[in-house]
Amino acid sequence: MKDTMNAPGFMTRSGNADQTLALAPLRRDDLPLLGFSHLSRQRRLQHAVTTRDGGARRPPQKDFNLSYTDSDDPEAVTANRLRLQHALAPGRLVFARQVHGTAVAALKQPVAAGRFPVVGTADAIVTDRPGLLLTILVADCQAVMLFDPHRRVVANVHSGWRGSIANVIGATVTVMQRDFGCRPADLLAGVGPSLGPCCAEFIHYRREIPPPLWAYRISDHHFDFWALSRDQLIGAGLSADRIGLGRVCTRCHPERFFSYRAGDKIGRFAAVIGLQPD
Ligand SMILES: [Zn+2]
Repeated sequence: MKDTMNAPGFMTRSGNADQTLALAPLRRDDLPLLGFSHLSRQRRLQHAVTTRDGGARRPPQKDFNLSYTDSDDPEAVTANRLRLQHALAPGRLVFARQVHGTAVAALKQPVAAGRFPVVGTADAIVTDRPGLLLTILVADCQAVMLFDPHRRVVANVHSGWRGSIANVIGATVTVMQRDFGCRPADLLAGVGPSLGPCCAEFIHYRREIPPPLWAYRISDHHFDFWALSRDQLIGAGLSADRIGLGRVCTRCHPERFFSYRAGDKIGRFAAVIGLQPD
């Protein structure tokens, strides 16, 4: 298997100019993960991006798939989720029913007991409660993790191209402000591995993408949704020097990440963020 992520220069070749905001390998409990440097430095904050590595199955189907949707082996998914939860302990993985919309689930009360609770139909989850590991499942879509170190609030956003158009990122920051008292200028953000401008091809963009966003068209049919997310975060009040863009394209690295466009119609990897108890 080509091990491009560990190859020298992988992170810098297409990475952030500012390495303090870059995505870097992270190991928890012997599980290979990735994390943003600026989020890793935060006290009592847990976060991670998973890869295909670490699955419960034996080769060649050893993928670390975390989604039950269409899974042919739910037991393997459960084993993978438990391994991830253990690696990020203490805390429980919490999920949302993701539908490419702009609903935000604000968790201020205790979440019902049980394994892997689904807190509602939403494409973003926000909480100030320690011990909830907010999990977003993706395979080309962006997971955007947010943290307010002053108010101690975390959020995780599922922003595919439909979410990008609808600005689910902005909707999430609004809920963080309104319901949790966050100041956008205090927020730290990390945009996970996702479809890059190299591969975000929209042949029918004239009917799929509204004209104001055609400014993000970088060639005939390719769009830079990373730049759009950065601009949406800045538009919501974040400071550019607190935004980490992973700049890792899933479609270009299908050996490391599930990519719907590369043919993975079943598997999903995850981004997770949560507050640790005092
Ligand atoms: Zn690509």
